Amino acid sequence: MGRSGLKRVVVLGSTGSIGTQTLQVLRDLGEEFLVVGLSTHSDISLLAKQIRQFTPQAVAVADPEAASELKTGTWKGDVLRGSEGLVELAALEGVDIVVNGLTGAAGLEPSLAAVRAGRRLALANKESMVLGGSLLKEAAAESGAEILPIDSEHNALYQLLLGLDRTEIRRVMITASGGPFREWPLERIAAATPEEALRHPTWEMGPVITVNSATLVNKALEVIETYHLFDLPYDQISVLVHPQSVVHALVELTDGSLIGHMATPDMAIPIQYALTYPDRTGRETSRCSLQELGRLEFRGVERERFPAFFLGVEAGAEGGTAPVVFNAANEVAVESYLNGRLGFGGIAETVREVLRSHNSRRINGLEAIWEADRWARQKAGEVIEMLEG
Ligand code: MG
Repeated sequence: MGRSGLKRVVVLGSTGSIGTQTLQVLRDLGEEFLVVGLSTHSDISLLAKQIRQFTPQAVAVADPEAASELKTGTWKGDVLRGSEGLVELAALEGVDIVVNGLTGAAGLEPSLAAVRAGRRLALANKESMVLGGSLLKEAAAESGAEILPIDSEHNALYQLLLGLDRTEIRRVMITASGGPFREWPLERIAAATPEEALRHPTWEMGPVITVNSATLVNKALEVIETYHLFDLPYDQISVLVHPQSVVHALVELTDGSLIGHMATPDMAIPIQYALTYPDRTGRETSRCSLQELGRLEFRGVERERFPAFFLGVEAGAEGGTAPVVFNAANEVAVESYLNGRLGFGGIAETVREVLRSHNSRRINGLEAIWEADRWARQKAGEVIEMLEG
């Protein structure tokens, strides 16, 4: 990375869950890290507080209306606006690391901008890879930018794969908690209420991601992310349901050995690693006591229990615009589920119908992504109306 010593960091989505945890880690890491950029969608009161704490060089507010209400006191930095503002912040001059903690498809263009500018991208935004994995990898190959995943499973895999030769790998496994319905009788799941879906056993997250954990759509997105991040074919990526969320990833080698990464489910650990890599400096985050845990359980992913997961992995393997369509259709379906327009079982049904009527195309630029995204959202709306009526 750039100059030795001081690392200059931009945190995109600094008022969200990943963002606030990243700022806490940065504070603990001390003066070797300097926060130079922050961003929010519209939480300007928290952003104003973060500006007072970190006095960055610039901030971005994605919602232009909220931007005009930001009160910055005596701080004299730049306030960038809208989605262009996020892109501008991601490519800010003299920055070493861009942490992308944005939610949804809005994360893709800032990721691309950071990678094109040669920054280390510490990536928590899944959609960047799911939608634009091929574009991001091309850009990284050109600029030499590093992409370090913050997602716990990919961060674990990154660490595991460092010392391994590709020819030694038979397959990799990432784990899933299995969400709140992993023990439910199958016939009850289709009628699960949003309240029941939002009761996630191990991780604290926003409502859409929590529903995506209950359907295991989140894990399908992570399989697609794994494919792009590590250049592994889909038949070498598998998922294990592991309720304790302590083993994050495993690599199976050609001689039958299994090497795993374990840690307490605490995002501070992968965040800190992505910031300090290749070093392992910083405070000791939560320790993991296997003795206290007593036992770890694993099982496969059942097709009847998690149909949307399999739709996602199949879309990934189909490639091109299919993962874009999968992601967009799922987002629309989850929103309708949370609004009470659709039952839980309707999420997978909607996604299946939309994918069925899609002809996947190669992605040659951003426009192909946004076109597929728009098409899928509209189609999902039609399917949901049909399911309602
Ligand atoms: Mg994850």
